[in-house]
Amino acid sequence: MPAEQASPPGGPAVPRLRVENLHKTFRSGRGGGDRTAAVAGVSFSIAPGEAYGLVGGSGAGKSTVARLVLRLLPATQGRVWINGQEVTSLSPRQLRPIRRRVQMVAQDPFQALHPAMSVRELVAEPLVIHRLGDGAEREERVLRALEEVALTPATTYRNRLASELSGGQRQRVAIARAIVLEPSLLVADEPTSMLDASVQMEVLSIFRELRVSRGLSILLITHDLAVARHTCQRIGVMRTGTIVEEGPVQRVISQPRHDYTRALLEAAEA
Ligand code: ADP
Repeated sequence: MPAEQASPPGGPAVPRLRVENLHKTFRSGRGGGDRTAAVAGVSFSIAPGEAYGLVGGSGAGKSTVARLVLRLLPATQGRVWINGQEVTSLSPRQLRPIRRRVQMVAQDPFQALHPAMSVRELVAEPLVIHRLGDGAEREERVLRALEEVALTPATTYRNRLASELSGGQRQRVAIARAIVLEPSLLVADEPTSMLDASVQMEVLSIFRELRVSRGLSILLITHDLAVARHTCQRIGVMRTGTIVEEGPVQRVISQPRHDYTRALLEAAEA
């Protein structure tokens, strides 16, 4: 299986993520008679080293897109490519090597980390699960990941328990856990919405640094335009399952073309 397709010399790079005409309809109610079109025809792509934000209010379908990309949910319709490889119809076994290349940072750093595990154990766990490296190599990779999320000096943090850490420190550990496998794409779903405002920007800066230093691509899910502006080059504004407007983040914010984007901007200023 080709792990990652090289881009042709001088040609455009293969997107890290490409999503085409994605749909997800949930059935609920008695006999599954009620249908919610949570995602209704979403397309976008993310280049190497690019951070793309899906921005919109609650219920817009952003998290569902993230779950479809990660194949935590099956799509009703549409296709997803990761590093040029179509993943929509792969079996769980075929998906396994690709899973390693796509990592997730969740919203709640308290739920994501077992409180009684040490920072070292938490960050090394993905390496253990994927049977990568020996003890010394794992230790080196753990320390490097901790340095990259600015838990420095890493040697002072590695023996701390998750329960001893603040929310911002926990989210840094969650990011270190995600990057220790050296993914090419990070999916971050509202990664700072549970953090104090003062810590939010620090954590977002880590995403930016990882993008620049590692060429990491990022899919950021957020309801907050300020968060997207700080982190993303391009955004798609989502409402009721569709992207109503897409473009470079500065353009979308300074010259919104859709009424819903204007409403989001006004709400943010209020
Ligand atoms: P957002 O992340 O933008 O807040 P979501 O993707 O979480 O939006 O939800 C989009 C819509 O899909 C909402 O109407 C939500 O109630 C519905 N939804 C999400 N997950 C499920 C589910 N597992 N079952 C039924 N409906 C769901």
